[in-house]
Formats: sequence, structure tokens, C-alpha cells
Amino acid sequence: MPELPEVEVTRRSFAAAIEGARVTGLRLGKPLRWPLGVDPETLLGARVGAVQRRGKYLWLPLGAAGGLLMHLGMSGSLAFLDTTPASGAHDHFDLHTDRGLLRLTDPRRFGAVVWGAALEAEPVATLLAGLGLEPFDERFDGLHLHAALSGRRVAIKQALLAGDIVVGAGNIYACEALFMAGIDPRLAAGKLSRPRADKLALAVRTVLGRALEAGGTTLRDFRDAHGVAGSFQMQAQVYGREGESCRRCGTAIRRIVQGQRSTFFCPSCQKR
Ligand SMILES: [Zn+2]
Repeated sequence: MPELPEVEVTRRSFAAAIEGARVTGLRLGKPLRWPLGVDPETLLGARVGAVQRRGKYLWLPLGAAGGLLMHLGMSGSLAFLDTTPASGAHDHFDLHTDRGLLRLTDPRRFGAVVWGAALEAEPVATLLAGLGLEPFDERFDGLHLHAALSGRRVAIKQALLAGDIVVGAGNIYACEALFMAGIDPRLAAGKLSRPRADKLALAVRTVLGRALEAGGTTLRDFRDAHGVAGSFQMQAQVYGREGESCRRCGTAIRRIVQGQRSTFFCPSCQKR
């Protein structure tokens, strides 16, 4: 599943190339998660602005024509092509521009392209409501994290995954950040001390920063808009390493299931 770093890597891979392009056509394939919500004809001639990201959503501003909110879902990827190859069975959205073709390929079709008059207008506003701070936002620090976790009984790993405190700490990154901060993923969120919250906030930012530098994580088939695979999984300390030795202390990495998601951790390095 593309997580925040993969979405940001995707954004960076085509934002500069598409900014200023004019929309010349739009093709819809099979239905995605939500309907487009606008007559494609009304977008013709619109000029693409600076592509923004919020959480795992991308916002493609189209001037007076509003904009398109895009989500890669479980299996989606965006490609910006300077040719226009025929669409394949899994290509469900094509935005033709005078600079190239932006194509969403999404075999499982949990992805979405939704039109809105503005970021603050419905239905976009509702889709973005409830998202936590961006991990690289300077307001996201230990103080914020500690305050937001107070009183929560859910395990710290699940509190991170929920995305309402900070966005971007998806499964792999939550596991890696908790390892970096030395925190047992089963710790009740509200019990995290302030100093450990400082460590965890820094770890979340560090892990996501490294993933961005590595071009994201290629667990199954993630590619950026130029078809380049990420390599963050090569650096994983715990994720996907059940039974292997902890790189720090040699203890066997454990896998447990929390909220139907696999959690990987070192039972020696990570404490309650
Ligand atoms: Zn260890």
C-alpha cells in the first residue's frame, strides 16, 4: 500500500513537469472508490497548478476549474508520460495535457480521483478532515504527541496508525519508528512519558525522512511517476524480519498482530 513517503516521492516525480500544463482530455476507466463528481468537459483547457500533498492525498489544482484530489488506494500508482500508450486493463484515469499524460494505474481500484471546487470545498474538505499534523510540520513534536496521546488506552502502535495525531506513520514506518525510539508497540498510548514522546516524534520524522530519501518502500510494486522503485525496505530494522536477529542486540525479532496488522519489534530493545 503506498504510504506517505511513496505519495510524496510520486508528487516530486511529476509536479514540476505538469505545473503549467493545459488539460486537453480526460478518460475514465472502471469506477474507482468514489465518482469523479464533475463533467470532464468542464476541465478542458484548465491550467494545472502546483501539485500539493496532504497525508496520502494529492491535490492537483486546476485554476478556476477547481481541482482533483487523488488517492492511490491500496495498489495505485501515477505515471506522467510524454507518450500516450493505449490504456491497459488497470488504467482507470487518464488526464491528457499538452505536456504529457497523467495516468492512474490501480488494479484493486481502491484509489480515487475526486473533483472539488477548492481544497476547502466539499467533498474534498470532508475527505481531508480529521487528518493529523504532517510529520515535517514543526508543530509536530513531543509536546504535541504527548498531549494528543494522553488518556488513550489503545496501544501506541495503533494510536500512530490512526493518523489523527500525525499522518504518515503507516504500518512499516510505525514499526520502524517505535524500534528507533525503543518503545514496545503494545504500550498503552496514554502511558508514554513526555521524554519518550520527544524520542518518538523525532523517530517518526527521521524514519519518514529516510524513506523519502530512499525513494519510498517497494513492498510489492510501488513505482514513482517515472517507474523508479524505492529502496527503503533494505534499511528496515524490524519490519518483515520475524525470527531474524535484531541488528542492535541480536535478539530474535518478534511478529505480533495488532488491529489485524502485523507488528514487528525487538523484545529486548523496545520497552513498555
Ligand atoms: Zn534488539
